[in-house]
Amino acid sequence: MRYHGYHHGTSGVGMIAVEDAEGNTLGVVHHVVVDSPTGLSWGFVGSGPADTARSVLLAALDEDARCQTCRGTGYLTADNADTIRRGAASTARTACTDCDRGYRHVPYRLFTTDHVAHWGEQWCMTRQQVLDWLAAHQHG
Ligand SMILES: [Zn+2]
Repeated sequence: MRYHGYHHGTSGVGMIAVEDAEGNTLGVVHHVVVDSPTGLSWGFVGSGPADTARSVLLAALDEDARCQTCRGTGYLTADNADTIRRGAASTARTACTDCDRGYRHVPYRLFTTDHVAHWGEQWCMTRQQVLDWLAAHQHG
């Protein structure tokens, strides 16, 4: 499986396709919007590339991208009562502090300067390459 970035149409919107080894499109990388509601971009350092980095890293992690503490919801609820702040009402929703809106923390800034900032108009990176990079930099 690999990720293939390109610009869609005349508007130049950044798209990242998920492809198999033969280049068949399986889907697109979901844009995890944090810094750049206007879209994904690359080739420089900024909010668009930051979202690209985060989205690609989380896509490669797949199910592992989900925060274990809050099960990916971003909130602590009665379902994980042992972690609810003492004294909070049982129905109260407390923002989870172990994650970024339900997603695991990933070193997206480093991935941006290592990779995303250097990508040209089109780029390809395999899921394994992303996971290898992540394994080497997870605690960096
Ligand atoms: Zn969480």
